[in-house]
Formats: sequence, C-alpha cells, structure tokens
Amino acid sequence: MKENKIRLKFKGSKHHRLLAFLLIIPMVFALSACSSSTDEKDSKESTIELYNMDTYMTVTAYGENADKALEKVREEVNRIDKLLSTGLEESEVYKINSGAADALSEDTYKLLDKSLQLYKDTDGAFNIAVYPIMEAWGFTTKNYKVPDDETIARLLTLATPDDILFNRDEHKIAFAKEGMKIDFGGIAKGYTSARIMEIFKECGVKSGKVNLGGNVQTLGTKTDGSKWRIAIQSPDKGDEYAGVLEVADKAIITSGGYERFFEENGVTYHHIIDPKTGKPAKSGLQSVTIVSDDGTLADGLSTSLFIMGKDKSVEFWKKHKDEFQFVLLTDDNKLVASEGLKGSLTSDRYEVEFVSDK
Ligand code: ADP
Ligand code: MG
Repeated sequence: MKENKIRLKFKGSKHHRLLAFLLIIPMVFALSACSSSTDEKDSKESTIELYNMDTYMTVTAYGENADKALEKVREEVNRIDKLLSTGLEESEVYKINSGAADALSEDTYKLLDKSLQLYKDTDGAFNIAVYPIMEAWGFTTKNYKVPDDETIARLLTLATPDDILFNRDEHKIAFAKEGMKIDFGGIAKGYTSARIMEIFKECGVKSGKVNLGGNVQTLGTKTDGSKWRIAIQSPDKGDEYAGVLEVADKAIITSGGYERFFEENGVTYHHIIDPKTGKPAKSGLQSVTIVSDDGTLADGLSTSLFIMGKDKSVEFWKKHKDEFQFVLLTDDNKLVASEGLKGSLTSDRYEVEFVSDK
C-alpha cells in the first residue's frame, strides 16, 4: 500500500516529484545512521585497534549497536587524520600552511576557533603558531637537532597567533606574515576522542571508551553502573601507574615531556614548546592530566598547564574550576590535584596533595 502511494506521487506533477525527492533524502540518511535501540541491557563488548595520528588507539563500545558504531568511528578517525595531518599534501592543514586553503571545513573552523580562544585564556601558553619552531627542532621529521638562538629568535617572530587572519563569516584563514604555519597537534587527539563520544551517542551506544596513546575519554559508566578506573601513566612508562582516577562521562588527557623527546649531549629535549622561549617547556612538571567533560578543552589545557607550571596552573584553575580538574606530577615526585578530584584520585606511588579554590 505504502509503496503504491509513493509511486503515485512520482507520477504526479514536477512539483510533486521534487517534493517526494526531498522527503526521501532525509529518510535515506536516517536509515544509514545507526539505529538507536530501545532496550540496551546488552553488555556485549566490541573493541577495535587503530593506528592513526602517530598513536595506537583502542576504541571499546558496549551493547548491540557497538559494532556499527565502531565502523563509523574507524571512518571518522581516518577522516580527521587526513584533514589535520601537517605532513600530508592533501590535508587541509597542509593547504592552510602553504596558503592554498579554500573555505575551512567545519572541523578546522572549530579547532581554529577553540585554539585562538585558548591562546587568549592561557596568556599565550597554548599557541598553534609554534609550528615553525617545532620544525626547527626536528620534531616534525624526527631529524632532531638543537637550533641556535638566532634561529629560535627569528622563528619566534612568526609564532604570533594575532597574525592569523580568521574570517569567521567567510570561513577563511590567511597569515599576516610570510612563513607562518599552524598545527593542531596540541588538541587534535582530544577533539578526536570527543567526536568518538558523539558517534557513540548518535549510534545509541551508552557505554564506551577510547584510549589514544594514554589519552582517554569515556561515555557513561561501565555496563554494571560502576565508574571507569583510568590509570595515569608513569613518566617511565613502567607497570606502576602514577595514579588512578575513577570517573564517568569524562575525558582524562595527559601531556608529558616523556611522550616524545630526544637527547643530545646528555640533555633531554621534549616536544612541548614554551612560546615565550621557543624551547621545550621547563616548568617543574613531569606531566599534567586534565579531567573534563570536554575532550578538546582537556587536550588543549594539558599542553597549556604543562607550560604554565604549578603556580600558574592553580591560579588558572581557580578561574575555570567549573570547566576542568587537574593532576600535576611535579619534578620532585608529588601529585598535586584540584580538590574536585578528592575521592576519585588515588596513587600507590606518590604522595597526593589536593589544592582548594580558596
Ligand atoms: P601529546 O600529543 O604527546 O599527547 P600534547 O597534547 O601536549 O601531547 O601535544 C603536544 C603537541 O602540541 C606537539 O607535538 C605540537 O604539535 C603541539 N605543541 C607544542 N607546543 C605547543 C604549544 N605551546 N601550544 C600548542 N601546541 C603545541
Ligand atoms: Mg594536549
């Protein structure tokens, strides 16, 4: 019967045919999206492993929609990687950096917007325009070298986000100075894990987790209703964790000098650049873990607080305590955490000090 009705409409006037066509488009989309299940008591676990963005990722979802959701995740992670990869000539970021970008994609628009906001909020610690300095240190090619002071001073003049001309109406970007380049490496993983949570929700998955090389985001609770136990990695990457966090529905993102580094003449140089010096940040911290509802923010802030060091981080948190909590591992082997994590952070390895917002 229904089929007949549709056929009848197609036989109608041009106007009717257009109407039927317009009605069918959303129907087709609705069918191809993951259908949400009404009864999700199923706790079947599905997991995929991916290698993207220079990291191993493990994505786990529960319930009867898990497999479908994970297929979508695989496609989405690939898509984001191709968009943001600085080294890939077809990527949007590559085109931006070579002055050949058209109107920005929705993803890049959002990342640029968030990055420029973070630049302001963090008093310049989060700076996507440090990319030419990353290149000079060889972090982009793995041909590591210590640049001379003159080179650093010259490249610092290009690390000026105020010279990124972002036309929000036309979705366009240009640089005011020749040689400027940007890179979303400081927030891309958090953005990706946040997107994965969105896909889970669209697909009717209510419980799931992603681990992107030590950066974790969780959806809901475990299927038995208990919280997730997420380990904070130790700088030596040994079996003993720096700490464990019990959370639900949160991103837990860590930045550390031990993630990517090289050694020259007995000195260790890592990949988080202090935009004030053009050198690897030395702020008395071994790692920073951010806990937040917002994965993109958590990633941006883990990089930023690592550069700020303990005192500035605490001050910053006092102003933004509704948006995130933190755990700092200091050079003298102590954990300093915001008081919102009392009851969820434990450590067998380090002494923990909680700071209050007073
Ligand atoms: P990881 O990628 O190891 O998890 P981060 O989230 O801290 O660690 O990101 C480090 C990356 O961020 C660097 O590889 C580089 O691409 C970029 N980056 C380095 N310094 C800065 C900075 N001051 N502001 C923004 N991004 C930065
Ligand atoms: Mg980060």
